[in-house]
Amino acid sequence: MTRVFSGIKPTGHLTLGNYLGAMRRWATVDQYRADALFCIVDLHALTVDHEPARVRRLSRQAATLLLASGLDPERCTVFVQSHVDEHARLSYLLECVATDGEMRRMIQYKEKAAREQRRGGSVRLSLLTYPVLMAADILAYGTDEVPVGNDQTQHVELARDLAVRFNQRYGHTFVVPRATSPAVAARVMNLQDPASKMGKSDDTGPGIVYLLDEPDVVRKKVMRAVTDSGSEVVYDRESRPGLANLLEILAACTGGEPAELAGSYDGYGALKRDTADAVIEVLRPLRKRHQELCADPAHLEGVLREGAERARGMARPTVDAAYRAIGLLTAS
Ligand code: ATP
Ligand code: MG
Repeated sequence: MTRVFSGIKPTGHLTLGNYLGAMRRWATVDQYRADALFCIVDLHALTVDHEPARVRRLSRQAATLLLASGLDPERCTVFVQSHVDEHARLSYLLECVATDGEMRRMIQYKEKAAREQRRGGSVRLSLLTYPVLMAADILAYGTDEVPVGNDQTQHVELARDLAVRFNQRYGHTFVVPRATSPAVAARVMNLQDPASKMGKSDDTGPGIVYLLDEPDVVRKKVMRAVTDSGSEVVYDRESRPGLANLLEILAACTGGEPAELAGSYDGYGALKRDTADAVIEVLRPLRKRHQELCADPAHLEGVLREGAERARGMARPTVDAAYRAIGLLTAS
């Protein structure tokens, strides 16, 4: 059976980008067709300036939202990265296979390092090595497919390169994974700045639709989305990025095609209204289920405890094999 692994960082409130780019497929497709693991990758949240209590709160919230989105713990494994030591154990070995140059070429490292400096902070070493820990997350489980938004393609490529390199040098140990992205909305853009990805740790609140935003807040954000000059509704990511973003969001929420949808509007107002309605409808059941789950915190704890136990059992044999292959004495 295909093994699927993917994760989400507790660095902020989850966004529409997270949902359309990744989470929705996990819940509607991946958990049914694959042996799937979904992880709150909390160690990755420590790579940027963070507040301990907030990371804990956001980890719980992200896990609750994963269940609210439809992940069924009977069908897939939902767990927290720091509960399974194998991730950090394997990350060190992969640091001994990756190079400094590879890390510095990562686009997200450059972007996030620049942002930390703009905010007056220093750049943590863990931000540089983050993609190695992510490779460990993936490789520890013999993962075949990593369903992600397309901003993560470069990191999954790195995981592939490290798997191939390790296998060549030390003998076959890892499955070589590949990234998969949705056909539409693989990169939802910020509503106020359509040149930038909608990211949960960004500072631009009005351009980001959060999954737990009230419907009237969602409506306001969509209605105030930056559109391009001109009045004709056409789908062109290059010359009309703001409009293209709205059309993609609408298409992802209604199951249509962005270019086709463009043809059915002759003004921005109606497009924005329909997009707002569609987003509100997609988020409605998720918000409701989230509220129900919040009333039963013991349920979530049980799911995460069992998830971690299952994940440990899956990761340990692969990570132990990597320790042996690379030349370490096994503890007796
Ligand atoms: P951060 O700003 O902290 O990096 P993020 O919003 O990018 O947060 P991640 O935890 O890094 O979220 O990514 C979780 C998943 O959501 C990944 O699969 C990622 O590709 C996907 N994703 C994130 N943002 C978007 C987006 N704007 N459009 C589509 N997919 C996205
Ligand atoms: Mg991200």
